[in-house]
Amino acid sequence: MANVTEIFGSMVFDESAMKARLPKETFRQLQRTMKDGRSLDINIANVVANAMKDWAIEKGVTHYTHWFQPMTGNTAEKHDSFISPDVDGKVIMEFSGKELVQGEPDASSFPSGGLRATFEARGYTAWDPTSYAFIKDGVLCIPTAFCSYGGHALDKKTPLLRSMEAINRQALRILRLFGHTDVISVKTTVGPEQEYFLIDKKYYEQRKDLIYTGRTLFGAKAPRGQEMEDHYFGTIKTRVKAFMNELNEELWKVGVLAKTEHNEVAPAQHELAPIFTTTNIATDHNQLTMELMQRIAKRHGLVCLLHEKPFEGVNGSGKHNNWSITTDTGVNLLDPGDTPCENAQFLLFLCAVIKAVDEYQDMLRVSAASAGNDHRLGANEAPPAVVSMFVGSELMEILEAIEQDAPYGGKEKELMRIGVHVLPKFPKDTTDRNRTSPFAFTGNKFEFRMVGSSASISGPNIVLNTAVAEELKQFADILENAADFEAELHELIRKTIREHKRISFNGNGYDDAWIEEAERRGLLNLKTTPDALPYYVKEKNLRLFTSHKVFSEEEVRARYEIKMELYVKTLTIEARTMTDMVNKDILPAGSAYAKQLADTALAKKALDPSIDASYETELARKVSGLTRTICQRDQALREALGKAEGMEDFEESAFFFRDEVLPAMEALRSAADELETVTDAKLWPYPSYGQLLFGIL
Ligand code: ADP
Ligand code: MG
Repeated sequence: MANVTEIFGSMVFDESAMKARLPKETFRQLQRTMKDGRSLDINIANVVANAMKDWAIEKGVTHYTHWFQPMTGNTAEKHDSFISPDVDGKVIMEFSGKELVQGEPDASSFPSGGLRATFEARGYTAWDPTSYAFIKDGVLCIPTAFCSYGGHALDKKTPLLRSMEAINRQALRILRLFGHTDVISVKTTVGPEQEYFLIDKKYYEQRKDLIYTGRTLFGAKAPRGQEMEDHYFGTIKTRVKAFMNELNEELWKVGVLAKTEHNEVAPAQHELAPIFTTTNIATDHNQLTMELMQRIAKRHGLVCLLHEKPFEGVNGSGKHNNWSITTDTGVNLLDPGDTPCENAQFLLFLCAVIKAVDEYQDMLRVSAASAGNDHRLGANEAPPAVVSMFVGSELMEILEAIEQDAPYGGKEKELMRIGVHVLPKFPKDTTDRNRTSPFAFTGNKFEFRMVGSSASISGPNIVLNTAVAEELKQFADILENAADFEAELHELIRKTIREHKRISFNGNGYDDAWIEEAERRGLLNLKTTPDALPYYVKEKNLRLFTSHKVFSEEEVRARYEIKMELYVKTLTIEARTMTDMVNKDILPAGSAYAKQLADTALAKKALDPSIDASYETELARKVSGLTRTICQRDQALREALGKAEGMEDFEESAFFFRDEVLPAMEALRSAADELETVTDAKLWPYPSYGQLLFGIL
């Protein structure tokens, strides 16, 4: 193992590389640009680009790319070499400031939801200097935002940066009211815990469903699932450990703070958690992490599955988005602090989050919606589709005491006067007990647990940042005009708790009784992606995003359309893959098995008519019955698909897929899975769940 402190960030053009290679003045100006987001002067960009190029070439790099995050949810790159022809037929290696700060990839093949009219097919990418350039696979990658020439965001990064700006603006107003004149900027921080599965590559290659869709569309349950509860935190297998070691090393080289690794609940399931960092960097790093996981797994004869529900019957994978707000002076605004003043400020920020989660529960749900995640949310293994929040019983008691002006505490009960009294200490471990809450306070941050494992964390953080910015704005509007700040603050906190306590739930989120209770409270239960997505374009949400300049109305509508279409496309590919597998592999296997059984029965009878052939005969009948059912259900699925293809309207189409195509897929699967359980394993065309889940020895 290499020396970690030496390799960490060795492939990143970070502050120390900049300091070492840039003239002092250039370095200072670049720092300033990075801190307050000013645009970079072209002369400075030229110097930076040249230094970056020399640094990269020393590391064997020949190409650079603007690395961006289109609305596909993946990352995109187009490599250009540094070469430039020289007078004598030779080449020199060049990289200009213009090439560093702006690129012009052909944008016409990326989803745009109609934003990028064909006459402006070109989009442009612009360097996000707050996220360092890095070397991946011998290519210098420059993290960029991606926009159309009309200025519309075509990616997941531009609105994220805008949402960070929105919360920065409003949080600073609040901090000024508490007398923090020293704070220059406020940023949100994120530490995303990433779950994934590892399976043997040789089995993966034999499954069209995994190859085309990332999940198994068929597969009878293995005799053993996760019931022994022995995988979570269990000993890590040698092959998996070798993968993790290489992954850590590669992540460290590109500056990702990979910290914790362990086995998860389901067999073959694992998790990686990084140390948190600024939200836009955490988002870049999570994209890199997912990419490297998939690439490095292959080197170990493994395949990394990031799908939310690769296997039926065992837990799926999510991503826990740990989120907080921090000042440039190093203060975590969701940390209760020790003094009455810190406590008061903490309670105000806490209230902003409570109000935001209540008022924008629909948008949080939208931000976690995808065809893959629909299999997980509400399946008693992940949070329900209902958004609620857990603040811990100690903190809840305090909030209730404040709301009711009731005495709080042990022997010497006292009224909690905000700004006067000190909050009692609540130990961190007791704040983190509830693992079933979709949105849990864990001592000094919130953990949003609905996000799917394959999703970019950009969407959820755009919603969180913007919704909390809106609440902080409302608070600042009131408090800036208060005659008596402390009295107004106290009243504001009380009022917020009173009006939004319905969102708080400290019980078991997996319990069905909670879903009924949530409905009584008027909380939304948006079970599927088509249920959730239309909330994107509700008046109040359009107002939220446009008023904070995070999205224009066209941008929201475009994203809504893209997400609905993505749902339809995902299910279309799944349905087509199923019918392909059924017709080419599963039905022929069933038929061959029926023949084998019939041949055996006939052979037995030919040998001696008194021999019992009832096993073969009965089974041949059963297998034939199942193949007929499968054939009929496949026909039904194909008819549904045919109808769907004729639909022009994306909303109608999404609902049709949910109501007609998906149930047809499920019906087809159940018959095929039953056939698998009775068919000779030698004839079954695919590796079994047992091999997939327990195949890494
Ligand atoms: P666990 O959730 O397993 O108890 P931790 O609470 O230590 O573990 O951290 C979980 C994740 O939360 C880690 O990725 C960590 O970096 C992240 N985290 C910790 N503090 C913050 C913060 N202030 N802002 C954002 N993420 C944070
Ligand atoms: Mg956690």
